[in-house]
Amino acid sequence: MDLLFTCCKNPTFNTLIDIGVKNGKITYIEEHDGRHTDAKEIIDLGGNLLLPGLVESHIHLDKAYLLDRLPGDVTTLRDAIEKTTELKHGYTAVDIEKRSLQVIRQAVNRGVTKMRCHVEIDPISQLVGLETTLALKERVKDSIDLQIVAFPQEGIFNDDQTARLMEQAMVMGADVVGGITYNDRDVEEHLDFVFRLAEKHNKPVDLHVDFSDRPEELAILDVIRFTKTFGMQNRVAVGHLTSLGSVERGQAAEIAADIARAGIHVISLPATDLYLNGRGDNECVRRGLTPVQLLLDHKANVVYGSNNIQNAFTPFGTADPLDIGFLLAQTSHMGSEQDALKLIEMVTTNAAASLGFQHYGVKIGADADLVVCSVNDVRTLLYTRPERERVYKKGKLVAKSTIQVTSYVEERMTT
Ligand SMILES: [Zn+2]
Repeated sequence: MDLLFTCCKNPTFNTLIDIGVKNGKITYIEEHDGRHTDAKEIIDLGGNLLLPGLVESHIHLDKAYLLDRLPGDVTTLRDAIEKTTELKHGYTAVDIEKRSLQVIRQAVNRGVTKMRCHVEIDPISQLVGLETTLALKERVKDSIDLQIVAFPQEGIFNDDQTARLMEQAMVMGADVVGGITYNDRDVEEHLDFVFRLAEKHNKPVDLHVDFSDRPEELAILDVIRFTKTFGMQNRVAVGHLTSLGSVERGQAAEIAADIARAGIHVISLPATDLYLNGRGDNECVRRGLTPVQLLLDHKANVVYGSNNIQNAFTPFGTADPLDIGFLLAQTSHMGSEQDALKLIEMVTTNAAASLGFQHYGVKIGADADLVVCSVNDVRTLLYTRPERERVYKKGKLVAKSTIQVTSYVEERMTT
């Protein structure tokens, strides 16, 4: 074996385990009994967590770190879209690559080994974002798997170029067909284009859907219908879906069950949703969140993502998906030990399944994408989010943390 992790804790196993890696794959998993199998390098975790690489399900690399270019603060979703559209005139390949790489580096340092990013396709930036991200995907492939969504942020039929550019994006190598139901002239027309394009290129679909707190905004009903008509069960993901949180409970429960039956993956994006929703309420301000618990209760696959890093839509963000898990724990009333476990599954195995990644997890034959943590339980990991000690991509070290804090509090205490 090339690498052996001993005395590891992992939520899917009842006992401490040893995990061996050869040629980038997990080839050995046995209960830890103190005897060391032969390996070129042995790392003793001393009972701490070893997780599969974290999965960032939804992020925008091309519009990250734009705060210092904005003319002022942003107050609504419409305002965020319009101000960011203006900034696109200044995008260059070098600029997009620099900001994207900054996010990727931070994410990898935090244990992310797989990421789905939405790259904007429109008449202003044309295909420069896609060209840049496709090249970057190849350059960083030894550290992270990047999935690229061709994303028509400005709508597909609001101009006469985007439909053609979307076609071109798929031919150039985009992995997923994106869409946005709330920023085009007609939802039916928009979805018809997206699903036909996905069918033509045999690619999954990832849509920005129902990003508001208005209960009447329910494009998800159309998405469910299109998913079934095109036989795309388990190959469609929807981001935001916050309007559903404002729908009367009984009706929302029926829709949640339909979402689960259609095999639609839901991606909660709480950092952006909390920031931009609820802006029209003067009292009893709604949180404007995806109804995560309701969807989970009805067996829908719910995961979460960062969405944006420090821009008009979300002036926060560190590219650590666990920050988002923690935010969801607080705002979706998910504070139990079982909830912590669920939130970790949502950023590992469930997220990998929603994005269609194969060979994933702590199991024989899977890629050795692994995160060595400095704590021994998922609750502490989620609540304290310590630096990840070591991050491996296919058995190769891609990040290592050596930060150590020495405390003198006890020494300074008086008797
Ligand atoms: Zn998004």
